[in-house]
Amino acid sequence: MTTSTTNRLAFLEDDLQQLKDQHLYQELMVMDSAQGVEITIDGRSLLNFSSNNYLGLNTHPKLKEAAKQAIDKYGVGTGSVRTIIGTQDIHQELESKLAEFKHTEASLVLQSGFMANTAAVCSIMTDQDVILTDELNHASIIDACRLLKNTPRHIFRHADMAHLETLLGQEAVQAARQRLIITDGIFSMDGDIAPLDKICALANQYNALVMVDDAHASGVLGAHGSGTANHFGVSDQVHIHVGTLSKAVGALGGYVASTRAMREIMINKARPFLFSTSHPPSVAATCLAALQVMQTEPQWMERLWANTNAFKAGMKALGYDADSPTPIVPVIVGESALAQQLSKRLFELGIYARAIVFPTVARDKARVRVQLCALHTPEHIEQALTAFETVGRELGIL
Ligand SMILES: *Cc1c(COP(=O)(O)O)cnc(C)c1O
Repeated sequence: MTTSTTNRLAFLEDDLQQLKDQHLYQELMVMDSAQGVEITIDGRSLLNFSSNNYLGLNTHPKLKEAAKQAIDKYGVGTGSVRTIIGTQDIHQELESKLAEFKHTEASLVLQSGFMANTAAVCSIMTDQDVILTDELNHASIIDACRLLKNTPRHIFRHADMAHLETLLGQEAVQAARQRLIITDGIFSMDGDIAPLDKICALANQYNALVMVDDAHASGVLGAHGSGTANHFGVSDQVHIHVGTLSKAVGALGGYVASTRAMREIMINKARPFLFSTSHPPSVAATCLAALQVMQTEPQWMERLWANTNAFKAGMKALGYDADSPTPIVPVIVGESALAQQLSKRLFELGIYARAIVFPTVARDKARVRVQLCALHTPEHIEQALTAFETVGRELGIL
């Protein structure tokens, strides 16, 4: 008797059931609209408060026009990795502009922010080195470190400078060839900002390199949104700036901004760069237009912050535990079930804001995560606050 291929995959059904039993099963929400502040899911209109599209640039007319023009000029794909025949002038131009944006000598673009972390960390660290990484760093940083099986790594307690200093002071850490401290700029679940000024001071004291992943901070913090290092005035003390083109920039991709040598090392060694096809030229063109808009249209960042402040003030007045220094606002309610219920009821009232539960956050810190966007209007914010008030009372949170 033969077992069909389908039957041999039956164990996946059990795995799925396990996820469901643990309330960890996720379903995709499918929009039949553009991603924006007003979206439709299954024909139903909702206000979106869960996007990383902080500046609303993904539908900006200048970005759309740039993509269309690039398609007409260059076609839709590159047909090669960068190192063979997949580099166009537009890719290099984007890299020069990103280096300017981050105040560095050079930069290199990767297919995603996820890949950018892998490229940066894995191209420079060896078994002679040591990595010091914040416990709440993004999964892509964690995975990049895991790929380096033989590089010792120390995980410091979240934003805990005393712990980082203790680790840096260890004899074995000081004896290593290089010490690389890695932190997110803005942490995605709490919306808090890394104490980058203090990290840089420790790095100077203990002769370490600093790498910042500014995925949520670029376009949000610093002059023209240039990020956390600029926000703290320590751009020249950060050795490796990682960023994404997928969030505030509105398109797709990641980059590493650093020295010319760092760029060349990654061109020669970074496996995601060497073994994965380059960006469609339209994406590069879109990102170039986004950088231009970020320099010349400060109103988007201003509106993002005005919306952030209005929402937080409103939530505070309602009596919610919802504070952070950035447009990521965690509405912490405690139990996972309560967070899920809050999110579900908000959805029914036309507000899309995802619940974030264990294991993404601690078991007793389940929350609905709200993210503001420049394109939210005062009426949108008002509608969200009204929904939060109604549901908060209904569920006994307020
Ligand atoms: C989103 C995110 C990434 C991944 O970026 P993509 O471009 O979406 O792959 C990397 N690091 C951090 C801190 C992020 O928040």
